[in-house]
Amino acid sequence: MILVTGGAGYIGSHCALSLLENGHDVVIFDSLELGHIETVNTLKNLNLKGKLVDFIKGNLQNFEDINNVFKKHKIDMVMHFAAYSQVAESVKMPEKYFKNNVGGSTNLFNAMVENGVKKVVFSSTAATYGEPVYTPIDENHPQKPINPYGETKLEIEHILDEYDKKYGLRSVRLRYFNVAGADKESRVGEWHEPETHLIPNILKSTFSGGQTFQMFGTDYDTVDGTCVRDYINVEDLIRAHLLAAEYLNKGGKTDYFNLGTTDGNSVKQVFSVCEKVTGKTIPVDIQGRREGDPATLVADNQKAKTVLGWQPEKTLNDSVKSAYEWEKVLQTRINA
Ligand code: UDP
Repeated sequence: MILVTGGAGYIGSHCALSLLENGHDVVIFDSLELGHIETVNTLKNLNLKGKLVDFIKGNLQNFEDINNVFKKHKIDMVMHFAAYSQVAESVKMPEKYFKNNVGGSTNLFNAMVENGVKKVVFSSTAATYGEPVYTPIDENHPQKPINPYGETKLEIEHILDEYDKKYGLRSVRLRYFNVAGADKESRVGEWHEPETHLIPNILKSTFSGGQTFQMFGTDYDTVDGTCVRDYINVEDLIRAHLLAAEYLNKGGKTDYFNLGTTDGNSVKQVFSVCEKVTGKTIPVDIQGRREGDPATLVADNQKAKTVLGWQPEKTLNDSVKSAYEWEKVLQTRINA
């Protein structure tokens, strides 16, 4: 049985779905502070290959909550997604981020050690690199986060190194670039309140009651003045998690990998793809720069290709299409 922390959230729910589709039993642990019970119910009701989905509501900040999960189920491996992940909020409330992300992860790893569970795939981030000193960013790039969110994820990576040395807890840390898109059948998708990410915000603005899309910063030193990011499709991203699980099961040592496409797209380029996919002319409100946004973040993904045998397959167009289909489902749900 695989434990998915944060399995009611965006990336965690895609992971739980994929694990089920690949024949694993899954236990989802989520506080539902940011995750959604509807997502859990969707996963439970799939009844994929008769696989078991157990849902346990709890908070990683309470050691007993997470320790009890290991008492209840025989867990083989953990996929750890549960975290706060809003950069701007982390700047305003660093204590909230350190307490939850670092404190919560430490409780999780302690419970793993106490219960003899020695494999974890951890959701890390390109934000651990900070302002790029060269691009594309490979795994040897210095890790100097420029915000508390990135700091918390880097600290967790360091804890994992120490727990490997001391307790033999092996980890794969996957450093995500910009995750985009949704399940191909729109069963799960991105559902943040408030939403801060580019693609859902552009798409939401096309629905009635949606706010006009705000474009942050058009004076960066990039191809068209807007920030360039590497948008990795969520289904491609999750495939890397399953490969990481296989890698750990085969005895692979603690390691870390970038998950990105190596392709950069500017905010304006993403915006045009959204106009093309929706067939709509989307109004834009041009704003100044958003604090803490580096001009360009693009991944070198050779290491994940070589070691994990991973290869991203979907294009930005695919991600926007699936995100749009999901957004239609979400809008119906919200307005019901
Ligand atoms: N962005 C934007 N408007 C929005 C949300 C994001 O212009 O409503 C820009 C943001 O400034 C950044 C890029 O889109 O340059 C990607 O931002 P996102 O929050 O999606 O991901 P991040 O790169 O911060 O992880």
